[in-house]
Amino acid sequence: MAENNSGAGTRFLLYPQAPTTRGYEKPELVWISDPLGTVGAGPSNDRMYVVDPAIEKTPYEFPFLPPYNGPSFPMAEPGPDGHFDHLDPDSREFLGAHVFGCVARVLDIWESYLGHRIDWHFAGHYQRLEILPLIEWDNAQSGFGYLEFGYDVSESGAAHPYALNFDVIAHEIGHSLLFAEIGLPPDGFTPGPDFVAYHEGISDLCSLIGMLHFDTAMDRLLRRGSGNLLAMNELNAFAELADERQVRIAGNARKMSEVGEEPHDRSRPFTGAFFDAVVETYHNMVVDQGLVDLPRHGIADARDLNVDLADRYGRAFEESYDLNHFRFKAALSDARDIMGTALARSWATLDNQNLDYVTAGYAVCDMLQEMNEGRVAETVMECLYWREILNPFDTFTIGQGRGRNRVWV
Ligand SMILES: [Zn+2]
Repeated sequence: MAENNSGAGTRFLLYPQAPTTRGYEKPELVWISDPLGTVGAGPSNDRMYVVDPAIEKTPYEFPFLPPYNGPSFPMAEPGPDGHFDHLDPDSREFLGAHVFGCVARVLDIWESYLGHRIDWHFAGHYQRLEILPLIEWDNAQSGFGYLEFGYDVSESGAAHPYALNFDVIAHEIGHSLLFAEIGLPPDGFTPGPDFVAYHEGISDLCSLIGMLHFDTAMDRLLRRGSGNLLAMNELNAFAELADERQVRIAGNARKMSEVGEEPHDRSRPFTGAFFDAVVETYHNMVVDQGLVDLPRHGIADARDLNVDLADRYGRAFEESYDLNHFRFKAALSDARDIMGTALARSWATLDNQNLDYVTAGYAVCDMLQEMNEGRVAETVMECLYWREILNPFDTFTIGQGRGRNRVWV
Protein backbone atom coordinates (compact mmCIF):
# COMPACT_ATOMS: atom_id res chain seq x y z
CA MET A 1 0.00 0.00 0.00
CA ALA A 2 1.35 3.43 -0.90
CA GLU A 3 2.24 5.45 2.14
CA ASN A 4 1.89 9.20 2.41
CA ASN A 5 5.07 10.41 4.11
CA SER A 6 4.96 14.00 2.91
CA GLY A 7 4.53 15.41 6.41
CA ALA A 8 7.65 13.70 7.68
CA GLY A 9 10.07 16.01 5.88
CA THR A 10 12.98 15.34 3.55
CA ARG A 11 16.14 13.35 4.24
CA PHE A 12 19.71 14.60 3.70
CA LEU A 13 23.15 13.32 4.67
CA LEU A 14 25.11 15.91 6.66
CA TYR A 15 28.60 15.89 8.16
CA PRO A 16 28.43 17.31 11.73
CA GLN A 17 32.10 18.34 11.36
CA ALA A 18 34.45 18.52 8.38
CA PRO A 19 34.86 14.87 7.28
CA THR A 20 38.61 15.10 7.90
CA THR A 21 37.83 15.39 11.65
CA ARG A 22 38.49 12.30 13.73
CA GLY A 23 35.23 10.55 14.58
CA TYR A 24 33.21 12.45 11.97
CA GLU A 25 34.25 10.65 8.81
CA LYS A 26 30.68 9.53 8.01
CA PRO A 27 27.71 11.81 7.33
CA GLU A 28 24.63 11.56 9.54
CA LEU A 29 21.08 11.09 8.29
CA VAL A 30 19.07 14.23 9.04
CA TRP A 31 15.46 15.21 8.34
CA ILE A 32 14.70 18.76 7.29
CA SER A 33 11.16 20.05 7.73
CA ASP A 34 10.39 20.69 4.03
CA PRO A 35 7.55 18.30 3.16
CA LEU A 36 8.55 15.44 0.88
CA GLY A 37 8.26 16.47 -2.76
CA THR A 38 8.74 20.21 -2.14
CA VAL A 39 12.55 20.14 -2.54
CA GLY A 40 13.39 20.10 -6.22
CA ALA A 41 16.53 19.61 -8.29
CA GLY A 42 19.47 21.80 -7.26
CA PRO A 43 18.44 21.25 -4.50
CA SER A 44 15.97 24.13 -4.44
CA ASN A 45 12.84 25.18 -2.58
CA ASP A 46 10.74 28.30 -2.20
CA ARG A 47 13.48 30.27 -0.45
CA MET A 48 16.84 29.04 -1.73
CA TYR A 49 18.52 27.29 -4.64
CA VAL A 50 21.93 25.83 -5.40
CA VAL A 51 23.85 26.77 -8.53
CA ASP A 52 27.30 25.24 -8.99
CA PRO A 53 29.51 27.31 -11.34
CA ALA A 54 31.46 25.28 -13.93
CA ILE A 55 33.98 28.09 -14.35
CA GLU A 56 36.54 29.46 -11.88
CA LYS A 57 34.16 31.97 -10.33
CA THR A 58 35.65 34.55 -7.95
CA PRO A 59 33.70 35.88 -4.92
CA TYR A 60 30.82 38.29 -5.43
CA GLU A 61 31.73 41.88 -4.78
CA PHE A 62 29.63 44.96 -5.41
CA PRO A 63 28.50 45.68 -8.14
CA PHE A 64 28.77 41.98 -9.12
CA LEU A 65 25.86 40.32 -7.37
CA PRO A 66 23.46 37.41 -7.97
CA PRO A 67 22.03 35.82 -9.96
CA TYR A 68 24.85 33.72 -11.38
CA ASN A 69 24.07 33.13 -15.06
CA GLY A 70 27.24 31.38 -16.26
CA PRO A 71 27.80 27.71 -17.10
CA SER A 72 27.10 25.33 -14.24
CA PHE A 73 27.56 21.71 -13.23
CA PRO A 74 24.51 19.39 -13.31
CA MET A 75 22.09 19.88 -10.44
CA ALA A 76 21.59 17.32 -7.68
CA GLU A 77 18.36 15.45 -8.38
CA PRO A 78 16.17 13.95 -5.66
CA GLY A 79 16.10 10.15 -5.50
CA PRO A 80 13.03 8.21 -6.71
CA ASP A 81 11.62 8.53 -3.18
CA GLY A 82 12.02 12.36 -3.19
CA HIS A 83 14.84 12.41 -0.64
CA PHE A 84 18.47 13.54 -1.11
CA ASP A 85 20.22 10.93 1.01
CA HIS A 86 21.07 8.75 -2.01
CA LEU A 87 23.87 11.01 -3.29
CA ASP A 88 27.45 9.73 -3.18
CA PRO A 89 29.35 11.89 -0.64
CA ASP A 90 32.31 11.95 -3.05
CA SER A 91 30.25 13.35 -5.93
CA ARG A 92 30.16 16.96 -7.08
CA GLU A 93 26.36 17.08 -6.62
CA PHE A 94 26.76 16.15 -2.97
CA LEU A 95 28.51 19.48 -2.22
CA GLY A 96 25.47 21.61 -3.10
CA ALA A 97 23.04 19.19 -1.44
CA HIS A 98 25.18 19.28 1.71
CA VAL A 99 25.14 23.08 1.94
CA PHE A 100 21.41 23.17 1.21
CA GLY A 101 20.69 20.55 3.90
CA CYS A 102 22.87 22.37 6.47
CA VAL A 103 21.17 25.73 5.79
CA ALA A 104 17.72 24.15 6.03
CA ARG A 105 18.74 22.42 9.26
CA VAL A 106 19.99 25.66 10.85
CA LEU A 107 16.80 27.46 9.81
CA ASP A 108 14.70 24.66 11.34
CA ILE A 109 16.56 24.99 14.63
CA TRP A 110 16.33 28.78 14.93
CA GLU A 111 12.76 29.01 13.67
CA SER A 112 11.81 26.59 16.45
CA TYR A 113 13.51 28.91 18.98
CA LEU A 114 12.04 32.09 17.51
CA GLY A 115 8.58 30.64 16.97
CA HIS A 116 8.27 32.20 13.54
CA ARG A 117 9.52 31.81 9.99
CA ILE A 118 12.76 33.64 9.18
CA ASP A 119 12.42 35.85 6.12
CA TRP A 120 15.65 36.86 4.38
CA HIS A 121 16.63 40.48 4.92
CA PHE A 122 17.02 40.85 1.14
CA ALA A 123 13.51 39.51 0.47
CA GLY A 124 12.41 42.81 -1.05
CA HIS A 125 15.06 42.43 -3.75
CA TYR A 126 15.68 38.72 -4.26
CA GLN A 127 13.01 36.11 -3.74
CA ARG A 128 15.47 33.32 -2.92
CA LEU A 129 18.94 32.83 -1.46
CA GLU A 130 21.52 31.75 -4.06
CA ILE A 131 23.94 29.11 -2.78
CA LEU A 132 27.24 28.58 -4.62
CA PRO A 133 28.93 25.50 -3.13
CA LEU A 134 32.38 25.80 -4.71
CA ILE A 135 34.07 28.89 -6.06
CA GLU A 136 37.70 29.90 -6.54
CA TRP A 137 38.45 31.32 -3.10
CA ASP A 138 40.02 30.32 0.20
CA ASN A 139 37.10 31.64 2.26
CA ALA A 140 33.29 31.69 2.57
CA GLN A 141 30.82 34.57 2.83
CA SER A 142 27.20 35.47 3.46
CA GLY A 143 26.15 38.48 1.38
CA PHE A 144 23.11 40.23 -0.02
CA GLY A 145 21.14 37.38 -1.62
CA TYR A 146 23.88 34.78 -1.65
CA LEU A 147 26.00 32.36 0.29
CA GLU A 148 29.22 31.16 -1.34
CA PHE A 149 32.00 28.81 -0.38
CA GLY A 150 35.59 28.29 -1.45
CA TYR A 151 38.01 25.70 -0.19
CA ASP A 152 40.94 25.24 2.13
CA VAL A 153 44.20 23.67 0.94
CA SER A 154 45.94 21.46 3.51
CA GLU A 155 49.70 21.15 3.91
CA SER A 156 49.61 18.02 1.75
CA GLY A 157 48.08 20.07 -1.06
CA ALA A 158 44.60 18.46 -0.80
CA ALA A 159 41.61 20.80 -1.33
CA HIS A 160 38.89 20.67 1.35
CA PRO A 161 35.68 22.41 0.26
CA TYR A 162 34.02 24.53 2.94
CA ALA A 163 30.75 23.18 1.52
CA LEU A 164 31.39 20.03 3.57
CA ASN A 165 32.02 21.98 6.75
CA PHE A 166 28.87 22.40 8.87
CA ASP A 167 30.76 24.73 11.18
CA VAL A 168 31.47 27.25 8.41
CA ILE A 169 27.99 26.98 6.86
CA ALA A 170 26.18 27.47 10.18
CA HIS A 171 28.41 30.44 11.02
CA GLU A 172 27.54 32.15 7.72
CA ILE A 173 23.83 31.52 8.24
CA GLY A 174 24.22 32.99 11.73
CA HIS A 175 25.02 36.31 10.07
CA SER A 176 21.92 35.95 7.85
CA LEU A 177 19.73 35.26 10.91
CA LEU A 178 20.88 38.48 12.57
CA PHE A 179 20.45 40.49 9.38
CA ALA A 180 16.91 39.10 9.16
CA GLU A 181 15.96 39.57 12.82
CA ILE A 182 17.87 42.72 13.85
CA GLY A 183 18.58 44.28 10.46
CA LEU A 184 21.44 46.36 9.20
CA PRO A 185 22.26 49.77 10.64
CA PRO A 186 21.09 52.50 8.25
CA ASP A 187 23.39 53.65 5.43
CA GLY A 188 26.04 56.06 6.67
CA PHE A 189 25.72 54.92 10.30
CA THR A 190 28.89 53.40 11.72
CA PRO A 191 28.05 50.81 14.39
CA GLY A 192 30.18 50.54 17.55
CA PRO A 193 32.80 47.79 17.94
CA ASP A 194 30.39 45.51 19.83
CA PHE A 195 27.91 45.33 16.92
CA VAL A 196 30.25 43.53 14.54
CA ALA A 197 31.78 41.46 17.35
CA TYR A 198 28.25 40.46 18.47
CA HIS A 199 27.58 39.28 14.91
CA GLU A 200 30.67 37.09 14.99
CA GLY A 201 29.87 35.77 18.47
CA ILE A 202 26.27 34.88 17.62
CA SER A 203 27.41 33.25 14.38
CA ASP A 204 29.83 31.06 16.34
CA LEU A 205 27.09 30.21 18.86
CA CYS A 206 24.75 29.38 15.98
CA SER A 207 27.37 26.92 14.80
CA LEU A 208 27.90 25.50 18.31
CA ILE A 209 24.17 25.06 18.96
CA GLY A 210 23.72 23.54 15.50
CA MET A 211 26.53 21.06 16.18
CA LEU A 212 24.80 20.08 19.44
CA HIS A 213 21.78 18.94 17.38
CA PHE A 214 23.76 16.06 15.84
CA ASP A 215 23.64 12.73 17.69
CA THR A 216 27.21 12.00 16.63
CA ALA A 217 28.47 15.19 18.23
CA MET A 218 26.39 14.91 21.43
CA ASP A 219 27.41 11.28 21.92
CA ARG A 220 31.09 11.97 21.35
CA LEU A 221 31.19 15.02 23.61
CA LEU A 222 29.42 13.22 26.44
CA ARG A 223 31.19 9.88 26.15
CA ARG A 224 34.61 11.49 25.98
CA GLY A 225 34.33 12.87 29.52
CA SER A 226 31.73 10.44 30.92
CA GLY A 227 29.25 13.30 30.81
CA ASN A 228 31.55 15.74 32.61
CA LEU A 229 31.72 18.78 30.35
CA LEU A 230 33.31 20.93 33.04
CA ALA A 231 36.54 19.16 32.22
CA MET A 232 36.45 20.89 28.87
CA ASN A 233 36.22 24.31 30.48
CA GLU A 234 38.30 23.82 33.52
CA LEU A 235 41.57 22.98 31.84
CA ASN A 236 41.49 25.00 28.71
CA ALA A 237 43.84 22.54 27.08
CA PHE A 238 40.83 20.21 26.76
CA ALA A 239 38.96 22.75 24.69
CA GLU A 240 42.02 23.43 22.58
CA LEU A 241 42.40 19.71 21.88
CA ALA A 242 38.69 19.05 21.23
CA ASP A 243 37.87 17.46 17.88
CA GLU A 244 34.95 19.85 17.40
CA ARG A 245 36.06 23.23 16.08
CA GLN A 246 33.10 24.94 17.79
CA VAL A 247 34.38 23.78 21.18
CA ARG A 248 37.90 25.01 20.41
CA ILE A 249 36.48 28.45 19.61
CA ALA A 250 33.82 28.76 22.31
CA GLY A 251 35.82 27.02 25.06
CA ASN A 252 38.20 29.97 25.24
CA ALA A 253 39.16 31.85 28.43
CA ARG A 254 39.41 35.37 27.04
CA LYS A 255 38.23 38.39 29.03
CA MET A 256 37.38 41.85 27.68
CA SER A 257 40.62 43.31 29.04
CA GLU A 258 42.51 40.80 26.89
CA VAL A 259 40.92 41.56 23.51
CA GLY A 260 41.06 44.47 21.08
CA GLU A 261 38.55 45.82 18.58
CA GLU A 262 39.15 43.29 15.79
CA PRO A 263 35.67 41.70 15.57
CA HIS A 264 36.68 38.00 15.73
CA ASP A 265 39.02 38.69 18.65
CA ARG A 266 36.42 40.84 20.42
CA SER A 267 33.75 38.17 19.94
CA ARG A 268 35.63 35.58 22.04
CA PRO A 269 34.59 36.69 25.56
CA PHE A 270 30.91 36.87 24.53
CA THR A 271 30.93 33.45 22.84
CA GLY A 272 32.88 31.98 25.75
CA ALA A 273 30.42 33.35 28.32
CA PHE A 274 27.47 31.63 26.66
CA PHE A 275 29.37 28.40 26.16
CA ASP A 276 30.21 28.39 29.88
CA ALA A 277 26.57 29.15 30.70
CA VAL A 278 25.33 26.16 28.64
CA VAL A 279 27.87 23.87 30.30
CA GLU A 280 27.10 25.10 33.84
CA THR A 281 23.34 24.91 33.27
CA TYR A 282 23.70 21.32 32.08
CA HIS A 283 25.80 20.45 35.13
CA ASN A 284 23.32 22.05 37.50
CA MET A 285 20.55 20.02 35.85
CA VAL A 286 22.24 16.63 36.20
CA VAL A 287 23.06 17.35 39.84
CA ASP A 288 19.52 18.59 40.59
CA GLN A 289 18.08 15.50 38.92
CA GLY A 290 20.19 13.30 41.19
CA LEU A 291 22.11 11.80 38.25
CA VAL A 292 25.45 12.79 39.77
CA ASP A 293 26.23 12.53 43.45
CA LEU A 294 27.46 16.06 44.13
CA PRO A 295 25.99 18.67 46.48
CA ARG A 296 23.09 20.64 45.00
CA HIS A 297 24.05 24.19 44.11
CA GLY A 298 27.61 23.01 44.66
CA ILE A 299 28.93 23.32 41.10
CA ALA A 300 31.82 25.71 41.36
CA ASP A 301 32.47 28.15 38.56
CA ALA A 302 34.02 26.09 35.81
CA ARG A 303 37.02 28.39 35.73
CA ASP A 304 37.72 28.18 39.43
CA LEU A 305 37.98 24.42 39.84
CA ASN A 306 41.15 23.25 41.51
CA VAL A 307 42.74 19.87 40.83
CA ASP A 308 41.16 18.15 43.87
CA LEU A 309 37.66 19.37 43.06
CA ALA A 310 38.08 18.48 39.39
CA ASP A 311 39.06 14.93 40.41
CA ARG A 312 36.05 14.64 42.66
CA TYR A 313 33.71 15.86 39.91
CA GLY A 314 35.31 13.53 37.40
CA ARG A 315 34.82 10.49 39.66
CA ALA A 316 31.21 11.41 40.44
CA PHE A 317 30.37 11.56 36.74
CA GLU A 318 32.22 8.34 35.92
CA GLU A 319 30.28 6.44 38.58
CA SER A 320 26.95 7.40 37.08
CA TYR A 321 27.48 7.90 33.38
CA ASP A 322 27.29 4.44 31.82
CA LEU A 323 23.81 3.74 33.16
CA ASN A 324 22.49 7.22 32.43
CA HIS A 325 23.85 8.30 29.03
CA PHE A 326 20.43 9.13 27.61
CA ARG A 327 19.40 11.18 30.63
CA PHE A 328 22.63 13.16 30.46
CA LYS A 329 21.98 13.73 26.78
CA ALA A 330 18.45 14.93 27.49
CA ALA A 331 19.81 17.41 30.07
CA LEU A 332 22.38 18.76 27.62
CA SER A 333 19.62 19.15 25.00
CA ASP A 334 17.53 21.09 27.52
CA ALA A 335 20.43 23.40 28.48
CA ARG A 336 21.17 23.99 24.78
CA ASP A 337 17.54 24.81 23.97
CA ILE A 338 16.98 27.12 26.94
CA MET A 339 20.01 29.16 25.91
CA GLY A 340 19.16 29.05 22.18
CA THR A 341 15.60 30.18 22.83
CA ALA A 342 16.65 33.05 25.11
CA LEU A 343 19.30 34.24 22.63
CA ALA A 344 16.89 34.06 19.69
CA ARG A 345 14.03 35.81 21.49
CA SER A 346 16.33 38.56 22.78
CA TRP A 347 16.89 39.74 19.20
CA ALA A 348 13.42 41.32 19.00
CA THR A 349 14.43 43.70 21.80
CA LEU A 350 17.76 44.78 20.30
CA ASP A 351 18.29 47.92 18.27
CA ASN A 352 20.82 47.72 15.46
CA GLN A 353 22.08 51.27 16.09
CA ASN A 354 22.72 51.00 19.82
CA LEU A 355 23.69 47.39 20.20
CA ASP A 356 26.43 46.74 22.73
CA TYR A 357 27.44 43.71 24.78
CA VAL A 358 25.90 45.00 28.02
CA THR A 359 22.48 45.56 26.43
CA ALA A 360 22.67 42.25 24.55
CA GLY A 361 23.70 40.37 27.71
CA TYR A 362 20.89 41.83 29.80
CA ALA A 363 18.39 41.17 27.00
CA VAL A 364 19.14 37.44 27.22
CA CYS A 365 18.80 37.51 31.04
CA ASP A 366 15.46 39.35 30.71
CA MET A 367 14.24 36.70 28.29
CA LEU A 368 15.33 33.89 30.64
CA GLN A 369 13.37 35.56 33.44
CA GLU A 370 10.30 35.66 31.19
CA MET A 371 10.84 31.97 30.49
CA ASN A 372 10.88 31.28 34.26
CA GLU A 373 14.55 30.34 34.04
CA GLY A 374 15.79 32.73 36.72
CA ARG A 375 18.55 30.42 37.87
CA VAL A 376 19.90 30.16 34.33
CA ALA A 377 19.74 33.97 34.10
CA GLU A 378 21.89 34.14 37.22
CA THR A 379 24.39 31.72 35.68
CA VAL A 380 24.56 33.86 32.52
CA MET A 381 25.16 37.00 34.62
CA GLU A 382 27.99 35.30 36.50
CA CYS A 383 29.57 34.16 33.25
CA LEU A 384 29.28 37.69 31.83
CA TYR A 385 30.90 39.12 34.98
CA TRP A 386 33.78 36.66 34.71
CA ARG A 387 34.36 37.80 31.12
CA GLU A 388 34.30 41.47 32.22
CA ILE A 389 31.34 42.11 29.89
CA LEU A 390 29.16 43.06 32.85
CA ASN A 391 30.52 44.74 35.92
CA PRO A 392 28.84 43.60 39.17
CA PHE A 393 28.59 47.26 40.22
CA ASP A 394 26.92 48.21 36.92
CA THR A 395 23.95 46.02 37.60
CA PHE A 396 22.49 48.29 40.20
CA THR A 397 23.04 51.50 38.25
CA ILE A 398 21.88 50.05 34.98
CA GLY A 399 18.98 48.40 36.71
CA GLN A 400 17.92 51.71 38.21
CA GLY A 401 18.27 53.51 34.94
CA ARG A 402 16.72 50.99 32.62
CA GLY A 403 14.16 49.22 34.74
CA ARG A 404 16.28 46.12 35.04
CA ASN A 405 16.60 46.06 38.82
CA ARG A 406 15.26 42.57 39.05
CA VAL A 407 16.11 39.85 41.47
CA TRP A 408 17.99 37.15 39.63
CA VAL A 409 16.71 33.95 41.12
ZN1 LIG B 1 31.61 35.76 10.54
